[in-house]
Amino acid sequence: MKMVGLIGGMSWESSAEYYRLLNQGVRDRWGPTASARCLLWSFDFAEIERLQHAGDWDALTEGMIDAARRLEDAGADLLLICTNTMHRTAPAIEAAVGIPLLHIADPTAAAIRAAGLSRVGLLGTAFTMKQDFYRGRLRDRHGLEVIVPPTEDRATVHRIIYDELIAGIVSPASRDAYRAVIARLVAAGAQAIILGCTEIMLLLDAQDSAVPLFDTTALHARAAIDAALA
Ligand code: GLU
Repeated sequence: MKMVGLIGGMSWESSAEYYRLLNQGVRDRWGPTASARCLLWSFDFAEIERLQHAGDWDALTEGMIDAARRLEDAGADLLLICTNTMHRTAPAIEAAVGIPLLHIADPTAAAIRAAGLSRVGLLGTAFTMKQDFYRGRLRDRHGLEVIVPPTEDRATVHRIIYDELIAGIVSPASRDAYRAVIARLVAAGAQAIILGCTEIMLLLDAQDSAVPLFDTTALHARAAIDAALA
């Protein structure tokens, strides 16, 4: 079994889910006492959030490369960035290490393609919904048409991630707000919704949407299990 290197703590709520999913997946495939070989580098998210909102992507990239190198030095055979947003730094990490990085958008897009769908609504942080590092990959590498919510809905989705989900707060009012955003994306033509933030799975499940939900946390973890056990 390969050693999975997790760059996490963004937030720890989702890193805990990655850890659970990896171990559960290995147990399901290899037997009741089998568990994942993995290493976790866990950031203080308060520092990450501060740098994100200050727009200091140079400092963020430096920190991510440092984490990736430490995991590689510690024996990781492959790397996962346990957040969609921080995939903005993925190209720099790939250039800095000698082990493969499993990009979160790739297994997500593959699952959408396998379901025969091509027009997707994207929920995530404002960085993920607006900037091209994520949407561009879905479009250019996977041929997906990506619809994002309008400005006000994007602000709501972003606020709930940072003010609530990262703090482990799951509120029925926020679930309703997400349901309404999803309904508007579906009315705009979305055939599926990408939960493009690794904490959104805390809030939503299939019954909250009229179209299929693609949970990046679960799809990314499954891709890591496939790679680790290959
Ligand atoms: N976990 C989130 C994501 O998947 C947000 C936290 C972050 O900004 O890294 O984008």
